[in-house]
Amino acid sequence: MALHLETPLLESPSLSLASGRSVWLKMDALQPPGSFKIRGIGAACEHHARNGKRRFVSSSGGNAGIAVAYAGRRLSIPVSVFVPQTTTERAKSLIRQEGAEVFVHGASWQEANERALEAVDAETAFIHPFDDPLLWTGHATIIDEVVNAGVAFDAVVLSVGGGGLLAGVAEGLDRNGLKGVPIIAAETEGAASLAASVKAGKLTELPAITSIATSLGARKVSQRAFEIAQTLPVESVVVDDRAAVNACMRVLDDHRVLVEPACGAALAVAYSHADRLAGYERVLIVVCGGATASLAQLQAWQAS
Ligand SMILES: *Cc1c(COP(=O)(O)O)cnc(C)c1O
Repeated sequence: MALHLETPLLESPSLSLASGRSVWLKMDALQPPGSFKIRGIGAACEHHARNGKRRFVSSSGGNAGIAVAYAGRRLSIPVSVFVPQTTTERAKSLIRQEGAEVFVHGASWQEANERALEAVDAETAFIHPFDDPLLWTGHATIIDEVVNAGVAFDAVVLSVGGGGLLAGVAEGLDRNGLKGVPIIAAETEGAASLAASVKAGKLTELPAITSIATSLGARKVSQRAFEIAQTLPVESVVVDDRAAVNACMRVLDDHRVLVEPACGAALAVAYSHADRLAGYERVLIVVCGGATASLAQLQAWQAS
């Protein structure tokens, strides 16, 4: 049995009203580790377990690390997560709660990641947070579930960090005969690595991440994500942090679910940038979730 849950699919009265069209929410915020990431990471971890790996290593202090820790616990495989000093206590504690070991190393993700790679041996699987075909195939189940539910849609809105979710949704559309359905790819200012690459016409690395939406904080998207943006109907939308945080607060009131600004970015397209949805009648938003923000943190961001 897969490690992810089949999540609810809801028509949202409030988002439909706010955006002037029918909006459907795929509620992956309700996955046990708090985000969609368990779909792909769960599939990858199961694959590696079947192939005899006896330890998982991750270098994500965010939702990917939490998902690997959860998968390891479910599969009874030990997990080590290497994170930089900047990782919040909350994130470290969520990883430890799943029984994984947390190693703090270095000032940045790059340094933590180098240390993680040193810890990989023949019996260890390194689980990348977004750039792995095993992950994409797992993320594609989002679209399988929507199609199986019989809900039709004419556009998909999702958030982009490194582009694993984008690659997975594109695969899901393709394997359900929906390759032509447009994807609206939301990022925040200061984390808009896909937008930068699209604009430059080549894979581009941001000098730094300056958005609070740290789960979107890949400085460069994967080659695959860039190719998808070049060859499929993908529209890049960039919202500011304020719009993303406001969307988090609104969806908390409207749907009683707390998500990170990384997810707020996608919701903000419908709440406050509905002009970008012109021409679409039934929009599917992937509510990707995220476990690393608290209510107090969202309120502090909103007040700042
Ligand atoms: C990882 C993550 C994203 C971005 O996913 P990518 O596959 O890196 O593009 C968006 N939102 C949340 C909550 C995440 O954890």
